Amino acid sequence: MPEEEYQLIVIGGGAAGFFAAITAAEAGLNKILILEKTAEVLSKVRISGGGRCNVTHDCYDPKELVQNYPRGEKNLIGPFHHFQPADTIAWFSEHGVTLKTEPDGRMFPTSDRSETIINCLTDAAHNQRITWRTRCTASEVKITPQGFQILNTLGHSYRSQKLLIATGGLRSKDAAQALIDLRQDHSPTVPSLFTFKIGDIRLHDLQGISVPHARIKIGSLQSEGPLLITHWGLSGPAILKASAWGARKLADCDYRFKIEVNWTGQHDTESLSTIFQTQRKTNGTRRVYKRSPLENITKRLWQRMCESSSISPESTWSTLTKDQSTRLIKELTCATFTVDGKSLNKDEFVTCGGVPLDDLHLKTMESKHLPGLYFAGEVLDIDGITGGFNFQAAWTTGHLAGTAIAKHSTRAPSKPS
Ligand SMILES: Cc1cc2nc3c(=O)[nH]c(=O)nc-3n(C[C@H](O)[C@H](O)[C@H](O)COP(=O)(O)OP(=O)(O)OC[C@H]3O[C@@H](n4cnc5c(N)ncnc54)[C@H](O)[C@@H]3O)c2cc1C
Repeated sequence: MPEEEYQLIVIGGGAAGFFAAITAAEAGLNKILILEKTAEVLSKVRISGGGRCNVTHDCYDPKELVQNYPRGEKNLIGPFHHFQPADTIAWFSEHGVTLKTEPDGRMFPTSDRSETIINCLTDAAHNQRITWRTRCTASEVKITPQGFQILNTLGHSYRSQKLLIATGGLRSKDAAQALIDLRQDHSPTVPSLFTFKIGDIRLHDLQGISVPHARIKIGSLQSEGPLLITHWGLSGPAILKASAWGARKLADCDYRFKIEVNWTGQHDTESLSTIFQTQRKTNGTRRVYKRSPLENITKRLWQRMCESSSISPESTWSTLTKDQSTRLIKELTCATFTVDGKSLNKDEFVTCGGVPLDDLHLKTMESKHLPGLYFAGEVLDIDGITGGFNFQAAWTTGHLAGTAIAKHSTRAPSKPS
């Protein structure tokens, strides 16, 4: 098979690779090839957001937006000034897809189907005559006087002036190979967005119970939000956020650490003592075990806390001892659990680490060391918390790279004489 020549080759047929390729093509670039190692392009888009694809987030101030990125934070302010959620919404709308916002700010296609996003991207790529090859792993990248030469596992050779690496999180050797060949530095990756394994009797058989606003502490790491008890431990936004912000620290201790939980979110010892005193005065004969005086603590969770505080089902508010009261307040505001591992959240999983942003021109996503080489998406040392922030980073970096590649590849239009 003769060597194929393109203006741009994209390694990785995910969200970032497709978005960059379409952007470049719509800006006038011809002859674009996307290489995808698996049998299907955009496979993560398909499974994303529980099959609904959380495309972006209802947040339009770059300074506020970057606060959702444990890695990338300040460096993303500039890129978000160029392409942010409002641009994502407009782009999809121009390509026939309307997005809707959920009460927590997450945005999904109105169809509630990730297929809508896949069809939109593949149709746009098709309209722009972009070629993509599946089951085609880029296994070697060389720099030659004629540009980049990419070889696949079957030994087939492709050549291009511009190369975009969009291989996603660097979990496999395939995803990192191009970086190794091009001597591109990349920090080791560890998981972000995972849930905590806790084998504690206090959580036993309580799976499915949640509180709308808990506060958690892991040493100096703090997080808050909804908290969910699962079969294996704790999950929910408060935990996922902590796992993202503490990704490296938690990996360093092999996911074995102590976590402190305030199930009430806003209460402390003082405010709970006041509530308990009021109960003693107004409901002295009522059994403590029977009902929680706190709206957000469900009956089963409350009863488990009473049991852990040695409060018998017969104890009333007026017979509650000081010691029992202190223990119950402690269970509510700073219950300590031992985490002994992580479990991946079935809905979302990204990697922390990758190509350092200092190695790129952040307006173009081009390498500072190797002109013509660009990066986009999760291969970069950027990751967000749950809520559509990871795809937004893929759209933003893909758009910047695609725009710059087209601009630097096509001849500037000559002035009319
Ligand atoms: C289960 C799950 C659900 C998620 N849900 C959401 C969500 O709802 N919202 C959100 O914002 N984020 C979500 N994420 C995160 C989001 O999917 C990623 O951040 C995003 O897909 C990154 O896009 P990407 O194009 O950089 O990488 P990817 O989507 O990983 O694409 C990279 C592609 O490169 C290919 N590749 C790698 N190496 C090679 C090679 N050598 N040759 C050829 N091809 C190669 C891979 O096969 C892959 O298809 C979810 C992640 C998971 C795992």
